[in-house]
This record gives sequence, structure tokens and C-alpha cells, in this order.
Amino acid sequence: MKAFFKEFKKFITRGNVMDMAVGIIIGGAFTAIVNSLVDNIIMPLISAIFGGTNFDSWNVTLRGSGESAVVLGLGTFLAAVVNFLLIALVLFCVLKALNKASEMRDKLLHKEVAEEAPKTKICPYCKSEIPVDATRCPHCTSVLEEAAKS
Ligand SMILES: [Zn+2]
Repeated sequence: MKAFFKEFKKFITRGNVMDMAVGIIIGGAFTAIVNSLVDNIIMPLISAIFGGTNFDSWNVTLRGSGESAVVLGLGTFLAAVVNFLLIALVLFCVLKALNKASEMRDKLLHKEVAEEAPKTKICPYCKSEIPVDATRCPHCTSVLEEAAKS
């Protein structure tokens, strides 16, 4: 039990949990915005395009009427699908931006390492110093198999 709490403490102090909490809160607020966007702006626009059709009236009553009616909620379903597609699209864009940001960060972090990487190598035939990506030695004109393959 002590080990469990120790691990839990490690987990919540690592900072990921705070990130996660912020993400969930922003996600919740974001969902409300997307829902509103779909319900109040996009669905009315689609309705207008289709000649003032109210999507709520797309619900097809199969049998009965009133509260006992069996209804196919096509309009409601369509709204949910548009909702999902919008959220997926926005998430995709956000993830893409995040990926780019972390890629740039990695580049900055690894820049120094990359600069330290050797730029020259020794030709196995004449033992001269040549560029690391050379496929043919400039000194003895030997074809360098290793570089040619990669
Ligand atoms: Zn050589």
C-alpha cells in the first residue's frame, strides 16, 4: 500500500497530471463550443442550403404518435455525425500543430548534437580524410560501398 502511494505521488508530481487536467477542462469547454457551433451555426446553414429544412423534422416516425411513437432520429443523428467530424478535424489540426511544435523543439535540442556529429571519415583505401557522405573518394577515386548503399 505504501508503494502504491509512493508511485501515485510520483505520478501526480510528474506534471503530466496537471497537463492532463488542463486538457480535460479545455476539452470540456471546447466540446461546448463545437456543440454550439454545430447546433446554432452549421446546422441552420445546412438547413438553409436545403431550402429551410429543419433537421429536427427529419426524424421519421415509424409507428404510433405522441410519447409512444417509435422515431428514427435522422436529423439528430446527422447533427451528431457533423459534430464528430468537426471535433475530429479540429483535433487533427491541434495534433498536427503540437507535432510540429515538438518537432521544432527536438530540432533545437538536437542541433548541438548534430553539429558534434563527425563530418568527415577516413577512406579505407588511401586513409585520407573525406566527407562522411562521400560515395567516391576524392583522393584515390575508390567507390565507397558503405556510403553508396545507404
Ligand atoms: Zn581514398
